[in-house]
Amino acid sequence: MSEINMDRRGLLGAGIIGAASLGLGTGASAKNPAPLAPGLTKADFSGAMKAFRGVVGAEWVFGDEDAVAPYTKTYIPDPNGYHKPVGAVCPESVEQVQEIVRIANTYRQPLWTVSTGKNMGYGMTAPATPGQVVLDLKRMNRILEVDADLGTCLLEPGVTYQQLKDYLVENNIPLWIDVPTVGPIASPVGNTLDRGVGYTPYGEHFMFQCGMEVVLPDGQLMRTGMGSIKGSTAWQAFKWGYGPYVDGLFTQSNYGVVTKMGLWLMPKPPVYKPFMVRHPNMEDTPKIIEAMRPLRVSSLVANCNLMMSASYQLAMFKRRNEIVPDGAPLDEVSLKKAAKANGLGMWNTYFALYGTEQTVAAIEPIIRAQLTASGGEVMTAAEMEGNPWFHHHSTLMEGGLNLDEIGLLRWRGAGGGLAWFAPVAAARGIEAERQTALAKEIVEKYGFDYTAAYAIGWRDLHHILALLFDKSDAEEHRKADACYRELVTRFGAQGWASYRTGVNSMELVAQQYGSVNREFNAKIKHALDPNGILAPGKSGIM
Ligand SMILES: Cc1cc2nc3c(=O)[nH]c(=O)nc-3n(C[C@H](O)[C@H](O)[C@H](O)COP(=O)(O)OP(=O)(O)OC[C@H]3O[C@@H](n4cnc5c(N)ncnc54)[C@H](O)[C@@H]3O)c2cc1C
Repeated sequence: MSEINMDRRGLLGAGIIGAASLGLGTGASAKNPAPLAPGLTKADFSGAMKAFRGVVGAEWVFGDEDAVAPYTKTYIPDPNGYHKPVGAVCPESVEQVQEIVRIANTYRQPLWTVSTGKNMGYGMTAPATPGQVVLDLKRMNRILEVDADLGTCLLEPGVTYQQLKDYLVENNIPLWIDVPTVGPIASPVGNTLDRGVGYTPYGEHFMFQCGMEVVLPDGQLMRTGMGSIKGSTAWQAFKWGYGPYVDGLFTQSNYGVVTKMGLWLMPKPPVYKPFMVRHPNMEDTPKIIEAMRPLRVSSLVANCNLMMSASYQLAMFKRRNEIVPDGAPLDEVSLKKAAKANGLGMWNTYFALYGTEQTVAAIEPIIRAQLTASGGEVMTAAEMEGNPWFHHHSTLMEGGLNLDEIGLLRWRGAGGGLAWFAPVAAARGIEAERQTALAKEIVEKYGFDYTAAYAIGWRDLHHILALLFDKSDAEEHRKADACYRELVTRFGAQGWASYRTGVNSMELVAQQYGSVNREFNAKIKHALDPNGILAPGKSGIM
């Protein structure tokens, strides 16, 4: 048995090209052209789909090309159409998830789990390797508990940020949520499992996660932390439980299907005051980081700051050809002019103070002095009232919801291509300066724009580069793929690997973290999931 499993694992690694050259069964047909997982026959696939229908009903299983089409939509570069699922199944209960996982083991049908599947710029619902059936948990969307005193909640994966916000407002519960920029349509569980970020003091989402329920690859149900103790009242209150802390193993991984998650929610502060600091030049990068770092490390500024380049900001609400003519480079003079006309600097750093009248009044002068000395203009609602960018960021920093940033997808035309490149560095000015120079050099070589931001964490920088391209233009699509790979490779060579990446580059990034780490991940995978049925290829783990 194990020999068969190891063979299949190897075949999964070989992927679509290997499968074709080995003459293995594929799903290629007029109705369903996506290839099956390596080693699977059409009969296996049909058997699995039939069994899934028996669990969730025919209306919740999608197998033919038209029905699967919504699950194939991505914004990332995928010029060879490699990242295509072959089907989807939508359970509504934990028991159904367990049954689906058992069936997947029987037929060796791999499953790619999503919560709401809005991982835009990282792959949406597309799997890392071909032949997977999307395990779509959107129907499991119950808010199971909110504890207003403890500031905790317990959610199913399909709950959206909007749903949670509405629940708190409708029930008059004075707790905030913390949202990623695409909050209304995305899931707190899905985002946290991909270790996403938001912009209140609870912005490092996995840090504020507490307790999970997980369907393991053999169908068993496990609760982490205090969740397995009968009668415990602390599942959502105490993160660590006893013995090895395992919650992290279920993030950015393929070791289980998370069916419930606890999160901490921030009490609404009496005073919330958002700020924007405008810096006039691209060269101000290191000064800004050096000024912000002590404020972040000391938690005088408690939320994750966004330091937005003028080009990223303009791309949210403008089209590229409103700034420069089509085909012309996005030069600094034109950018500066457009930024100024819209009340923006070349860098725009957003943060907020949260507290009481007294604490905010005490901290504000310290921060103003520090940022003014860095050459920035410190602005508040008093000066920025009506500015759409200030409005967008001040909404985010109080856990508010909007979809303004989706405008990025139209920057270069209607084709909507976007791949996030997110290398990590320590929060030092010199590193940011070097990263910006390297990123500009690479993207401009391919004819793309440096539309980027830095998320200034507690001690780290996430450089967030939106590689924007027109996916409907085949040549541009191909170039975006090559550009992305060069970004990953050349940044990695400098010690700047990504904290998170799209399905198009999971293998590439995993290689950068080294063979010992990869072997460790693989050993856990093989022990938990000998048939390799959960999300093969996620984070490069087979
Ligand atoms: C304009 C724009 C702005 C964005 N801004 C942000 C931002 O500020 N912060 C941020 O973090 N992201 C951001 N994103 C990226 C992304 O859209 C969000 O992270 C979004 O929350 C992810 O989609 P989701 O919540 O539907 O998660 P899903 O797509 O459901 O899940 C993400 C991944 O987690 C894993 N997973 C999900 N559910 C489970 C489960 N139940 N069990 C096991 N594994 C699971 C899967 O691998 C899945 O692919 C942005 C995207 C765009 C286009």
